Amino acid sequence: MKLFIPDIAYIDPRILKYHVGKNLLAHLENYNVPIIKSRKVIIDGKTPVENYAKAKKTIYVTINGQKKLRPCKPSADYQFSLSSSCPGHCEYCYLQTTQGEKPFMKVFVNIDEILSVLKNHMDNNLPNITTFESGSITDPVALEHLTGNLKRSIEFFAESEKGRLRIITKYDNVDSFLNIKHNNHTKFRFSINTKYVINKFEHGTCTFEERLEGARKIASAGYPLGFIIAPIMIYDNWKKDYKELVHKLKAHLDNYNDKITFELIQHRFTATAKELILTRFPNTELDLNEEKRMLKWGPYGKFKHVYPKEESSEMKEYIIGLIKDNFENGEIEYFT
Ligand code: SF4
Repeated sequence: MKLFIPDIAYIDPRILKYHVGKNLLAHLENYNVPIIKSRKVIIDGKTPVENYAKAKKTIYVTINGQKKLRPCKPSADYQFSLSSSCPGHCEYCYLQTTQGEKPFMKVFVNIDEILSVLKNHMDNNLPNITTFESGSITDPVALEHLTGNLKRSIEFFAESEKGRLRIITKYDNVDSFLNIKHNNHTKFRFSINTKYVINKFEHGTCTFEERLEGARKIASAGYPLGFIIAPIMIYDNWKKDYKELVHKLKAHLDNYNDKITFELIQHRFTATAKELILTRFPNTELDLNEEKRMLKWGPYGKFKHVYPKEESSEMKEYIIGLIKDNFENGEIEYFT
């Protein structure tokens, strides 16, 4: 997929102390991206749709001053960020409700400081292994070409005896990770879905084939590998489509004999997310009909609308069956 180039970049003057910051600035100038040196990002669309579209083309290059990381159970011990938001426009994205009306991307350049915060958390947890999720509030692969910070992180974790890195992505920009030392300490998970879901709802992300090709490259570089199938949706022909997805995955990974993990997440939405999605995507074809769902209490103190028990059990059984029939080396981590 073509690499993302922003329409405009806001530059926090503090980034000029960092070599990643200076390089990024030169890179943006090279691409003739308009640059504003300011710590205040202004997005002045006239409607929520316009604000969202403009924000998704705007980056703010700054530093990440977070010293204490947030827990990230059950996926990892902690989450950290090399960036926030992403260039994708997935209509159902769970970040819709957490990144405000104008979810512009922040790109952090102080990589040595970020890695030293990770090191402190690892040291405090010795002699245990500590895992870190890099994709909780961003897609780190989508913005990697701007900084190279994910590559630096993989190399940092390769040298770390007790640290493990987890990456999740819908993008295929993985070439810079293929010939570096990773020591099996970084796990890549590709978020995949049927062509119907990707084409209808995951705008600005890689195609199904591009993600499979990205996963194949990562597999041949020997990284631990997993897939997140999410959000799983019920629609006409959903069973046929998910079967095709699993078969294509198998065909692409025929030579990969190490364990492949699967995380399975059914589509859900909260009342707040529905309201926001409808303002940003007024013509959305997402199924947001509460009457066809049941309420489930979520860990973040909000009710979410999930499929009724009977449908979610059918979904769970069907997808797990497909994986078991096709992947001897497959391990289901969870269905939720
Ligand atoms: S790629 Fe991921 S983070 Fe970006 S909009 Fe889509 S779901 Fe959200």
